[in-house]
Order: sequence, then C-alpha cells, then structure tokens
Amino acid sequence: MSPAASRAGAILSVDLDAVVSNWRLLSKLAEKAECAAVVKADAYGLGASEVGLALQSAGCRTFFVAHLEEGLELRKAIGFSSRVLVLNGTPAGTEGDFLKSVLIPVVNTAGELAAWRGYARDKGRSMPVALQLDTGMSRLGLSPGDVAMLATDPALLNGLSVELVMSHLACADTAPHPANRRQLREFGKLRTVVPKHAKSSLANSAGILLGKDFHFDLVRPGAALYGISPVVGQTSPVRQAVTVSARVLQLREVPIHTHVGYGHASRMQRRSRLATLSIGYADGWPRGTALSAFYKGHAMPFTGRVSMDSIVVDATDCADTPREGEFVDLICPRQTVDDVARAAGTIGYEIMTRLGRRFARDYRRHAALAA
Ligand SMILES: *Cc1c(COP(=O)(O)O)cnc(C)c1O
Repeated sequence: MSPAASRAGAILSVDLDAVVSNWRLLSKLAEKAECAAVVKADAYGLGASEVGLALQSAGCRTFFVAHLEEGLELRKAIGFSSRVLVLNGTPAGTEGDFLKSVLIPVVNTAGELAAWRGYARDKGRSMPVALQLDTGMSRLGLSPGDVAMLATDPALLNGLSVELVMSHLACADTAPHPANRRQLREFGKLRTVVPKHAKSSLANSAGILLGKDFHFDLVRPGAALYGISPVVGQTSPVRQAVTVSARVLQLREVPIHTHVGYGHASRMQRRSRLATLSIGYADGWPRGTALSAFYKGHAMPFTGRVSMDSIVVDATDCADTPREGEFVDLICPRQTVDDVARAAGTIGYEIMTRLGRRFARDYRRHAALAA
C-alpha cells in the first residue's frame, strides 16, 4: 500500500495489468484494425497518466481525450511517441496549443474546419486533423450537408492533412438495433469524401463486439478497457480493473430497535454490530443505493442512508468482523461497477467517472510487466 493509501479514508485500487489485458483482448477482437484507447475524463476516473503509460508500453499508439487540457496532461505523462486526438474539438484561439503539444483536433463543425484551414494558411504549413461525421447520433460531427459541400469543393480541406475520419454509434450496446446497420451504411458512404490516405474509425467498446464490418482501420474502446461491461446485462468479456475499499472508522454494538443515520431511516430488528465506513456520496458513491460492503468474503449490508462522508453497515452476521482502522471492499468481484450502477439506476460509466476525486489511488502493476 502506498503511504497516501495507508492514510486514506477510502482507496481506489487500479489493476493496470487488467487494463492492459483488456486492451490486448480488444485488439484481438478487432483483428486487423488498430486498437486505440479512450482515456478521456482521466481514463474514466482511473488516472489517464498511469493508464496511458501502461498502455503505451503494451504497444498502444493512439489515444483519445475529450478536452485540450486532458491532452496537455497526457502529453506530460506519455511523451511524444503516440498520437493524441482531442474529441471535443478546438475552442477558438487554441490552435497554437494543439500545434505545440502535437495534439490532433477532432473537427466537428464547418466553422472549426474553416478556422483550421485559416490557421494552416497563416502558418504556411499542413495541419493534421481528424474529421468526425454525424451518421445518425445527432451529437457531434459534420452533417451530411457539410459533407456534401466537401464533396463539391475539395478546397475546403486545403492545408489540412486528414489523418482520420470517424463517427460514433448511438446504439452499439444493443446489437440487433437497426440504427447500427444504418449508421454503418451512412459512414461507408460519407467517409469517401476525405482523401484516400485517411484512416477510418467507427467502433467504441460495444461497436467492436458488433463484428468485423464495424472495425474499419481503428477502434476506440474506453469502458471495456476499464472493466465496465460494454453490453449491459451480458456476461462481460473483460476483467474487472477497479477495487474500491473504505476504512472502518468505528464499530459499535447496539440494542434491538436502535435507529441508524439521517432521518432514522433504519431501525435494527435485533441486537446488532454496526460498522461506520469512511466513504460517502462526496466520494462519488451514489446516495440512493442499498448495497453491501465485504470483509473476507462476508457481506455487510448498508443500514440507514448513505451520508456525505460515511456509510453504516450491519456486521452482525459477519463471522469475522473487521477491526477499527481496517479496510472493507465496496467494489470488488462480489459487487462490480455494473452491480453498483444497476442499484443506482445508471450505467457503469457514470459510477466510474464520479468516483476517484477524493480517493487515494493505489496502482497495481506486475513488476515484470512494468516498463
Ligand atoms: C467516449 C467515446 C468513445 C469510447 O466509448 P466506450 O463506450 O467507453 O468504449 C469512443 N468514441 C467517442 C467519440 C467517444 O466519445
């Protein structure tokens, strides 16, 4: 345990070997396509620098972030030997930052395209860009109308070297959804507008599982790298990469009919042993959940409400009770990120990206694999 972790109230342990092994599995599933890694939102809360370094040393050469700031941070960690693309484009006036840190903007609008063309002209050099096309999600990307303009006026790409043409699937987690094939057809049609050398990319994690037709030259998994099941309700092909544990702050024995927590939401139906854990909704734990903590395989159900900084659990049936100061697990093989998401009425993505700001992070990497 790192010194920070040994002082912490709650710990987010990241198994970098699992992330690397998930990346290798996805690379294999993607067959001939290059497997990139989406490390936006601090690698979904796991730490973009650590994840980026581990994946780069495993052979990953293309990374996606959402924001310029995330790209600058990632560059500091991984150096300059890999491509870094910025999904949410370029706020006006930031072109120089992209150039200096060798970040490739994903251009989503005709206005952005014009700004980059102007910038390339002013600099008198060719600028690398990626183009996102909207093929039916109506979120980000050039519209079919914009693409038609490009087709009739190739000068709109003057001074720009299009490295990648991409689109994003709206319904990939539901394989039989007709939108998948529709978007595939639309992408096949629209992408021909860019020069031949540009690579094509359509699939996120769930898109990879839709099969070969969806792989093109490059796939862009995020969630599956981090152990989130790409298809909700299906046995996940990827390994869990995260453990969340919290320190036991206090143990108490209470008589029958004791009320617990805010609003006295629970009333014990027997003499009970309660443990108060150092984790709460300010750590990103969803407030409306009635789950369990685990100690040496024993489940301790939540009692009362999740507070800002603590959760009380019922350890009465725990054959082996944790001591004050010891850690118990809240995300572990017995209770996965997807289980927590289901209990909170959301998806694993939201749980993961909300965790982690207040935790001490502990990284596990097999010594032999560490670069
Ligand atoms: C977030 C994102 C991804 C990764 O999606 P996952 O479902 O996490 O694999 C890929 N492409 C784009 C454009 C994204 O925004």
